[in-house]
Amino acid sequence: MEIIKTVIEMQKRSDALRLAGHTVGLVPTMGFLHEGHLELMRVAGEHCDHLIMSLFVNPAQFGPGEDYDDYPRDTEGDLRKAGEVGVDVTFIPSVDEMYPDGFQTKVEVEKVTKHLCGISRPVFFDGVTTIVAKLFNMTKPHLAVFGQKDYQQLTVISRMVTDLNMDIRIIGVPTVREPDGLAMSSRNAYLSPEERESALCLKKSLDLAGRMFTSGETEANVIVDAVSDLINAHPFTQIDYVALCDPATLEDIDMLGKENLLALAVRVGKTRLIDNCVLRES
Ligand code: AMP
Repeated sequence: MEIIKTVIEMQKRSDALRLAGHTVGLVPTMGFLHEGHLELMRVAGEHCDHLIMSLFVNPAQFGPGEDYDDYPRDTEGDLRKAGEVGVDVTFIPSVDEMYPDGFQTKVEVEKVTKHLCGISRPVFFDGVTTIVAKLFNMTKPHLAVFGQKDYQQLTVISRMVTDLNMDIRIIGVPTVREPDGLAMSSRNAYLSPEERESALCLKKSLDLAGRMFTSGETEANVIVDAVSDLINAHPFTQIDYVALCDPATLEDIDMLGKENLLALAVRVGKTRLIDNCVLRES
């Protein structure tokens, strides 16, 4: 697997690939790879001839007091895992390479960023859209793959691609979970064994909501209350939000319709975890 560290080299490589008629796919990551990331790469590999993974912990998407410095890192392990799932190029730029002196531009998606995680993490989505737009300009992919675990992020990026006429196909991949249901996340590494046990309440509460919806419950606040009660009954948990919303606009809903997004953000100890599911009429 090739490793590229500079923007100019990355752009030249992608130009050459495109000129040679190859389909280029990109999977952006912040590293500390787990099966969720690897699944994105497998899916991307099915849709392209040449697969690029980017590995960059983006300081611009962490707010003050968030875990930028502590974010888990394992470059050697990441490169090995990426090679095993068929990544052709890993793009691994430095912070200075991405944000050189004088940098002062941001990409902002206005509305879908204002709900859910946008409330407690106000700088997060501008950081994400700006870095993803930059990565697109550096790697020039035909397609890019993102996880549905970060449902709002996928929505925001799809909006940006549409609004800015970026000629890139965005593919979403369902959440990959541990055998006991916990959504895989690099941040799970922060959890103590007792917190990890408690963290199972996220998936349990999604399942509870699914059962309530299937049995005919249509009032959003009844489901939100039941989900909140279940989470609050577990030790170490502190709810950031439990929201039932429109899966396209992410605006809160009062009554459930054919398709509804249930999104959760819960602190377990000091670790902020997110999870979601779409409640759909069968
Ligand atoms: P991150 O390294 O956390 O920025 O994530 C990189 C990509 O992997 C994003 O598109 C995430 O949505 C995706 N991802 C993270 N965890 C999972 C998971 N458990 N299942 C599927 N995709 C995931």
